[in-house]
Amino acid sequence: MSILSIYVGPDGENTWPKKYPFCGGVFQSPIDFHKDILQYDSNLSPLEFIGYNVSSTDQFTLTNNGHSVKMHLSPTMHIRNLPFEYTASQLHLHWGNRNKSEGSEHTVSGKHFAAEMHIVHYNSEKYPDITAAMDKANGLAVLAILLEIGPFNPSYEKIFRHFRNVKYKDQMVHVPGFNVQELLPDRPDEYYRYEGSLTTPPCYPSVLWTVFRHPVTISQEQKQMDILDLFSWICLTFLLNWKVTTAKTFQVGEIHLFLLCACSLLRVFPRVTTRSFLPRLHV
Ligand SMILES: [Zn+2]
Repeated sequence: MSILSIYVGPDGENTWPKKYPFCGGVFQSPIDFHKDILQYDSNLSPLEFIGYNVSSTDQFTLTNNGHSVKMHLSPTMHIRNLPFEYTASQLHLHWGNRNKSEGSEHTVSGKHFAAEMHIVHYNSEKYPDITAAMDKANGLAVLAILLEIGPFNPSYEKIFRHFRNVKYKDQMVHVPGFNVQELLPDRPDEYYRYEGSLTTPPCYPSVLWTVFRHPVTISQEQKQMDILDLFSWICLTFLLNWKVTTAKTFQVGEIHLFLLCACSLLRVFPRVTTRSFLPRLHV
C-alpha cells in the first residue's frame, strides 16, 4: 500500500473576480500533482466507507438546478479515518466541453483526464449541514475520482442513464440505490491528500481533498451519451435519408414524422453544450 500526500497547492486559479478574496490563494483547488510537491505520509491510512451500499429499494435524487446536475446522497453514508466523521451530501461530475474535451479539474504531472467525479461530504461532527460547513475550517471532505476513456463502465451507467431525464433546469429524477463504492477505483487505498478549497467562487478554503491515484474508465459512448439520445439518432438517419430521396412523393405519415423530427432536433441541438456548464459548481 502506498499513500501519497501533498501539503500546499500553489498552482491555484488566479483569474476569479476580486470580489472573491479566497480565490487564487495558496489553498486554491484544483492543483497539479507533480513529483516536486508529492511526499509520502505514513500517517495516512485507507478510508472506510460506511453505508455506501444503498439498497435498491431506496432512491437517490438527481436534480438539475440550471448550473449543475447533482445526485443527492443518503445521510447514512459516512467516511471514517479522517480527522472528523464526514457525512455524504451529493456527487457531481466535471466534464469537458466542445473546446476542451478533457474536463478533469485536477491533473497529474500536467495531464488532464476525460472527466472527474466529486463525492462531497460535510463535517457532521462539527456542523449540522453542508451549508453551515462549506465556509468553515474542516468543513468539507471531497473524494475525487479521475475518469479516462476505456471500457464501458456498468456502475457509472447506473447514474448516466438517468441524465437524459434532467437535461433542463428544475428537472428531477429518482435513481435506484446501488453500492456507491462501485464508483471508486480498484485501489482506493492509494490517493493524494491535500487541504484545499472549493474550485469555483467563493473558493472557501474548507475542503480536505482525497484524489484517488488510479483513474476509473468509462467508454466514449458513455461520455457523449446525453448529447444525442436514441430518438435523435433515428431522426438524423431519417432526415439524411429524406435528403437523398426528395424526389419521391411523401406519405402523410412521413410528413408527420419529418415535422416531429425537426421539432425534436431543434430541442436537442441547444443541449449539446449543456455539459460545458453542467457540473462546474460546488467544489
Ligand atoms: Zn466539483
